[in-house]
Amino acid sequence: MRRKGLASMAVQAAESSAGAAGIPAAGTSAASDVSLGSAVALSCRECGTRVPLGPSFVCLECFGPLEVAYELPTGDPERLRKQIEAGPASMWRYAPLLPVPADVADKPNLNPGFTQLVQADRLAAELGVTGGLYVKDDSGNPTHSFKDRPVAIALEAARAFGFTTLSCSSTGNLAGAVGAAASRAGLRSCVFIPDGLEQSKVVMAAIYGGDLVAIDGTYDDVNRFCSELIGDPLGEGWGFTNVNLRPFYAEGSKTLAYEICEQLGWKLPDQIVIPVASGCQLVKIDKGLRELVELGLVEDKPVRIFAAQAEGCSPVSRAFKDGGVVRPVRRPDTIAKSLAIGDPADGPYVIDICRGSGGAVEDVNDAEIVDAMKLLARTEGVFAETAGGVTLGVTRKLLEAGVVDPSLSTVVLNTGDGLKTLDAVASSSGPSAVIAPSLSAFRAAGLA
Ligand SMILES: *Cc1c(COP(=O)(O)O)cnc(C)c1O
Ligand SMILES: [Zn+2]
Repeated sequence: MRRKGLASMAVQAAESSAGAAGIPAAGTSAASDVSLGSAVALSCRECGTRVPLGPSFVCLECFGPLEVAYELPTGDPERLRKQIEAGPASMWRYAPLLPVPADVADKPNLNPGFTQLVQADRLAAELGVTGGLYVKDDSGNPTHSFKDRPVAIALEAARAFGFTTLSCSSTGNLAGAVGAAASRAGLRSCVFIPDGLEQSKVVMAAIYGGDLVAIDGTYDDVNRFCSELIGDPLGEGWGFTNVNLRPFYAEGSKTLAYEICEQLGWKLPDQIVIPVASGCQLVKIDKGLRELVELGLVEDKPVRIFAAQAEGCSPVSRAFKDGGVVRPVRRPDTIAKSLAIGDPADGPYVIDICRGSGGAVEDVNDAEIVDAMKLLARTEGVFAETAGGVTLGVTRKLLEAGVVDPSLSTVVLNTGDGLKTLDAVASSSGPSAVIAPSLSAFRAAGLA
């Protein structure tokens, strides 16, 4: 039952749209003549049914998720490679492979992407990795998480469909990314988060001047609420990046795959470790890797894909290990709040991809998350948020278990900035000593 998550969202939208025929509600303009680069339609991941480009996210035939279908550039891969390399130092260098207008880089947007791929030799030495270890550091994005990538694509779709308000249900980072992107583009924003998130994420979600609504409930409650809002006249003209714009939003994460391969010298990595909340990012990184092979931009070889979750919200990891279906977690309890989605829409796809590639899904507890955050900071000077601690923690655990192969090239994703989750490490990171301003006091502290 891989369609459960989205299907329930769609049913919710349908029920609350009081007799309206369409799921979900349309935007303020007809979507039939929309032009979004090489995107030609939306197509169902399960049954292949095609519908015109528009703010739809669920197949009405089978309730499967809709995805963007393309007519990708054909012809000489060398030319395409040169064109990409000559493009802007942002995700827009891959515009020909995305559902965006050709002049996207000229429109007001945050220009995310093309973040550093850190060659992590000191971390590799500590972990015993000999095949090459890299950290794709997406804390370098404009609002300090990878969410700027999917939001930048959703923004173009929102403009194309005539939406006037940009919205989302968020575990924290998405709210900030939507607020910032909307402000830059001159759209209104109204974003929804579960109450009780980290202070820095709440402040970031509010500082860009849009409306921020905290809901007394879990992320899954917030998401259900947003599905209802889409089906209601109250939500008229609203583009929810991760709900009715989800097919477009999701494509943004392909750029992580593109960048990693380009930065490796147009090569696929052997192994890649990706954090999972809804699973959307992992599914699209896999898609991005396959597209590069199809386009002839990289040589095909096996890539083992690993998914990382926090023990306190690990529905996908649990299902992977016990071989059963993904059962929702009602009360997530983890310091990795950005990954605290109890009912992940793409969970079953994550399991298929990890299994099919010879990878795995694993989880780590809060103490292991903090340890991994400190390890990455200490060895590579990269301060990751708790989600990055989850990913590196799982990498370490799977190396120790002999599941991740230390002799293969391995990319670990850091999807967010440690400054967003200071509380996780604040109590155990501070001055080595507090002293009087004198040499004798410093000598006495024993730090010279
Ligand atoms: C949202 C988020 C994720 C997970 O993204 P999904 O696509 O929902 O799996 C990972 N890391 C960070 C920092 C996030 O904010
Ligand atoms: Zn279908």
